[in-house]
Amino acid sequence: MITCKKVMRIIEEFAPKGLAAEWDNVGLQVGNPEGEVKSILVTLDVTEEVLDEAVSLGANMIVSHHPLIFKSLKNLRYDSPTGWLVAKAVQSNIHIYAAHTNADNTIEGVNQCLARRIGLKNTQVLKRESSKLYKVVVYVPEGFENTVRTAMGDAGAGRLGDYSYCSFMTSGTGSFKPLEGANPFIGKQGRLEEVPEYRIETVVPEAILHSTISKMLQVHPYEEPAYDVFLLENQDARYGLGRIGELEEPLELGCLAEKIKEDLDCPWVLVSGDLEAVIKRAALCGGAGADLIYLAKSRNADVLVTGDVKYHEAMTAKELGLSIIDAGHNATERVFIPELAEYLRKKLNKQGEEIDVYTSTIDTNPWTQVIG
Ligand SMILES: [Zn+2]
Repeated sequence: MITCKKVMRIIEEFAPKGLAAEWDNVGLQVGNPEGEVKSILVTLDVTEEVLDEAVSLGANMIVSHHPLIFKSLKNLRYDSPTGWLVAKAVQSNIHIYAAHTNADNTIEGVNQCLARRIGLKNTQVLKRESSKLYKVVVYVPEGFENTVRTAMGDAGAGRLGDYSYCSFMTSGTGSFKPLEGANPFIGKQGRLEEVPEYRIETVVPEAILHSTISKMLQVHPYEEPAYDVFLLENQDARYGLGRIGELEEPLELGCLAEKIKEDLDCPWVLVSGDLEAVIKRAALCGGAGADLIYLAKSRNADVLVTGDVKYHEAMTAKELGLSIIDAGHNATERVFIPELAEYLRKKLNKQGEEIDVYTSTIDTNPWTQVIG
């Protein structure tokens, strides 16, 4: 049986809740962590149509990007839009989970999907997020050092830039006296033992700390493995908001705008800047990224691709000499939805769980373009 809690854990391995902005409200919004999940519907927004879609698919868990409950609810009135949707979800026995700014800030989240979709290369995080990094040290008896080191590397520990499985190992002597009730792998109850051991140390990002430790414990031969977890001051450069990188080939701003309109399959884009200016370096942020105008300029971006840019924000960018392509909030974020669904599908399949993960087919964009 797949519980709601299990799905939550899989999502949080990918987008740890600690990456969410302070003002945000992410995680399980409606439902029971212990409840059974029959199938999952992934969507950008939770609307009444999306709830109906979930019911018709038999999906009793909705995973959304935008939180249904954003500001705290003081009552649950059926005559308020949010109250009614929450009531309807409860009446339909649907769990609702939101991965919002934590999905924006994570490695393969909204912004990396957007960068991939518009063909940005050599991408870096535009605004780094202080994601916690840990050093895990474990003591292993001789002969088991490679098994333990490999298991931790397999779990994703020891990633430094483009290098994986980074670790350091020293040899020494471990000592212990098994007490009454112990069932020691080496030694006897009541006798002080000295054993040749290795000390293995490796860095582990917060997102995979618990899964790395549990994989290490699975292969460690001791009944009570000794290990230490240290919080580091170093930051993990892979987490944060927006991306910056180079276009596959330089393009005039007008041509880039046309290309992005096609890449994102959106009916319109708004452009600010000289349409004939040659663009080589682009910054982007899915959703509403006008707060990043100064940062994009300081990192030598020629253009910022985002959504929800206001008139005066576009004016500021123009004064700074930064072009803007506003492709809309919806179009710059919905690229993430099928990728999140695919991630869930793969992870659940890998654990031998047969479950359908659907991508919503409802267009939740509140805007319609009227021409002429
Ligand atoms: Zn958004």
